[in-house]
Amino acid sequence: MTEAKLISSLNEENLSHFSKTFVPSRLLLGPGPSNAHPEVLNALSLNPIGHLDEAYISLMSDVQQLLRYTWQCNNRMTLPMSGTGSAAMEASIANFIEEGEKILIAKKGYFGERLVDMATRYKADVSVIEKPWGESFSYEEIKYEIETKKPAIFAIVHAETSSGVLQPLDGIGDICRKNNCLFLVDAVTSLGALELLIDKWKIDLAYSCSQKGLSCPPGLSPFTMNDRAEEKLSSRKTKVPNWYLDLSLLNKYWGSDRVYHHTAPVNMNFAIREGLRLIANEGLENVWHRHNTNAKKLWNGLESLGMELHVSEDYRLPTLTTVKIPPAVDGDGFRNHLLRNFGIEIGNGLGELSGKVWRIGLMGFNSSEENVDRLLNLFDTELKKYSIFESSTF
Ligand code: PLP
Repeated sequence: MTEAKLISSLNEENLSHFSKTFVPSRLLLGPGPSNAHPEVLNALSLNPIGHLDEAYISLMSDVQQLLRYTWQCNNRMTLPMSGTGSAAMEASIANFIEEGEKILIAKKGYFGERLVDMATRYKADVSVIEKPWGESFSYEEIKYEIETKKPAIFAIVHAETSSGVLQPLDGIGDICRKNNCLFLVDAVTSLGALELLIDKWKIDLAYSCSQKGLSCPPGLSPFTMNDRAEEKLSSRKTKVPNWYLDLSLLNKYWGSDRVYHHTAPVNMNFAIREGLRLIANEGLENVWHRHNTNAKKLWNGLESLGMELHVSEDYRLPTLTTVKIPPAVDGDGFRNHLLRNFGIEIGNGLGELSGKVWRIGLMGFNSSEENVDRLLNLFDTELKKYSIFESSTF
């Protein structure tokens, strides 16, 4: 062996600073990730098996079947993509847009803006309709825009995590079909937590994440598409300009052929199978009910402490509540206090709502009465300490 000197920032002295990996215990009540269910963590810690092993192939089929139930659809192409929610978001743009094609994006927050950014990078002809961060679009507004702009795709975020708005989707699928347009939905903060009926609402394409309603760590992004979307994909004139997210290549692995595309993150798929199984065991309607009930308890509790919610109850998002930071309170100071002294994370506002609201998430395993009570108690007892003024009135 030749004598080589390794380049390293590690030496005997500083190596001793690295103890075994340790992560503090946290209750994640922010915009995500949410805590993973203990059974999901058990599944995650199993030894990996080969991604073409017949036992794994069978597990893949289970994941697809359970995902179809959770999405409420019968779509053949239903799979968890490798990567966080943004991976399937990008796949939805990369596969269905060809240069110069029209996409209409309804933007009412940060994640609508991300869709615009992605569609622009893939050289779509992008039209945007906008609402202030905290409002939703009406059926009539969407109908008018689709009928006049005639896009090939209409995209909208179901649960806007930046503003705390739940967008009603019923009826939009019919408008899209009448106007020969695909209906694309971001369900990152709604899948496995809120009513979402892919087939009934005629949603052609949708994507989500693993780290919220599905009670898993981040790392997979569930995706589904129907026959209309498959038809559009197969009529592409140009190659999908993204190899990793090319759905026709992914289909060879997730479809009947099971041909290698990339090494599957097998442990994350063990985890998502478990998260989805837990949802199926509880029953989807019970899961939705639990999220709605716990959110209402939180809203009532915050209001009875004198706090103001950012979004009107008509379209308030049960998985993510935006509550106004009282003017007399140091918002970051209070958040840091909760994290450092109680191990509880809540989120700051994102983008234009930064410093104006806190974002409180109740998603998946974390949507429980016990967590709501714990947080409300802390708001009651600790918030006063972060008041800029002596008085505890906000
Ligand atoms: N869309 C929405 C509505 C989100 O809330 C998020 C992230 O929280 C994303 C997309 C992006 O997902 P990820 O951060 O998992 O890539």
